[in-house]
Amino acid sequence: MSRTDGTTATVTRETHEVEALIIGSGLSGIGAAVKLREAGLRDLVLIEKADELGGTWRDNTYPGCACDVPSALYSYSFAPNPGWTRAFAAQPEIRAYLHRTAAAYGITPLIRFGTEVVRAQWHAAEARWHVETSRDRYSARFLISAAGPWHEPLIPEIPGLADFSGEVFHSSRWRHDHELAGARVAVVGSGASAVQFVPAIQSRVARLDLFQRTAQWVLPKPDHHVPGAERRLLRRFPAAQRALRSAEYAAMETLGLGFRHPAILRAVQKVGTLHLKATVKDPRLRRALTPDYTLGCKRLLLSNTYYPALTRPNVTVHATAVEAVRGNRVVGADGTGADVDTIILGTGFHILDMPIAQRVFDADGVRLGEHWKGSPDAYLGTTVSGFPNAFILLGPHLGTGHSSAFMVLEAQLEYLAGAVRHFRSAGWAGMDVRPEVQAAFNAEVQQALPPTVYNSGGCSSYYLDGNGRNSFSWPWSTGRMRRRLAEFDPEAYDVTLTSGVGRPVPAGR
Ligand SMILES: Cc1cc2nc3c(=O)[nH]c(=O)nc-3n(C[C@H](O)[C@H](O)[C@H](O)COP(=O)(O)OP(=O)(O)OC[C@H]3O[C@@H](n4cnc5c(N)ncnc54)[C@H](O)[C@@H]3O)c2cc1C
Repeated sequence: MSRTDGTTATVTRETHEVEALIIGSGLSGIGAAVKLREAGLRDLVLIEKADELGGTWRDNTYPGCACDVPSALYSYSFAPNPGWTRAFAAQPEIRAYLHRTAAAYGITPLIRFGTEVVRAQWHAAEARWHVETSRDRYSARFLISAAGPWHEPLIPEIPGLADFSGEVFHSSRWRHDHELAGARVAVVGSGASAVQFVPAIQSRVARLDLFQRTAQWVLPKPDHHVPGAERRLLRRFPAAQRALRSAEYAAMETLGLGFRHPAILRAVQKVGTLHLKATVKDPRLRRALTPDYTLGCKRLLLSNTYYPALTRPNVTVHATAVEAVRGNRVVGADGTGADVDTIILGTGFHILDMPIAQRVFDADGVRLGEHWKGSPDAYLGTTVSGFPNAFILLGPHLGTGHSSAFMVLEAQLEYLAGAVRHFRSAGWAGMDVRPEVQAAFNAEVQQALPPTVYNSGGCSSYYLDGNGRNSFSWPWSTGRMRRRLAEFDPEAYDVTLTSGVGRPVPAGR
């Protein structure tokens, strides 16, 4: 059965009452569950459409998949992992870490696997969220979206792609059953995933044609094996691990300072240029790989193996977007092309047009996506006026381009836990961020963005939404983000109180 709102049909059997419902069991969902329980919420559920937790680190199994910020930072501060075997852990280790952490904190049994949230709507009279899933129905006091900005693969609209006779897949849905040995492969895209999987498959395939719309800044990756002795030391002395995390945080923040004051970036950009010069001798290839915008304008990439892989005789770089697929030929906008058996799309995700925004509705039945009209915004990247008692994790305007998603998440979790504690102690039934507060925050962000490299670096990036507005980036330091989100600010919200007869009554501010 199809619905007029475009969501899929639901077979509803039961309604479960819960205090909090979390959509997704990636690192955000797991972290939220841990912090909400610490804040005193016992009755919560995580709804996960897949059959396993881990989100990104479950889905992205492509060869070479790893994090690109140091693992000491790409982990929860409350669950440090002294056992990382590499400075930048690979996907299987991160996936295992998330499994372990969810189990250790008692979160795994709270996850309803194989269950998809298809619609969530605020009911003002009850001051609760009514949530329909592909299995049951829920009524929840709080709704937390941890559905992940890097979740839904972006499949480009390339004429003829659907009729391609060979195999096509997106990097985040890797086809391990498809034999790449001896294949002629076209890779579309040259972003963070392609930089990792291209070197991992280059020596296996017969030919690799890389279609690169925009050259990327790629810096050497300071990755290395962490010897057993160092791991034992970190395990024995947690203070040493905290010191490592702090040192890495400081290093990343220095880079972040450059992103906000691009003149400082010249030295870092020089490292990128030297890296390219040292690894790519052919001047034509080097020209094709030289970015024409300031480093940091697009996500900065780290790799020691990407450039060398592109110099191999079986690789051709097409410095052009793909215009069409004709038969088994991938054709670039510059007229070059390649006959291939396999197309791998390294084309990214629906980041600022997250599908979940089409499934969350206000009290009048208006979708979150309709409120946003293509330009997401939220107060402190977290709460949206008209959507009471709801929180978006890794929401708009919290992207940093240099720091770890865990840093952003934990700043938000402080705010979320503070909000829930205050809500309960003050006897609130509903909290809705005041529209003028949200608008003022949004204006402040938009005012601060122009000098940053994200807006002034001269590129087009996924930080920009369909309207051309930067709805992704946080224009200040992550220290400021942490300070800004450290204390819940009740005065920013319109509230309703529980009247005692089960109906919420408006209480103003
Ligand atoms: C390949 C890759 C590498 C990355 N590396 C880094 C890095 O090095 N450093 C960094 O800071 N960031 C990195 N990121 C970005 C970010 O850290 C990760 O995407 C991270 O996993 C986000 O966590 P999350 O829990 O918010 O979302 P996700 O991990 O995407 O989890 C979302 C979960 O929600 C579920 N879900 C979605 N919709 C529904 C629904 N309607 N109903 C039920 N369940 C639903 C999904 O199945 C999924 O399990 C990377 C992203 C990718 C894709």
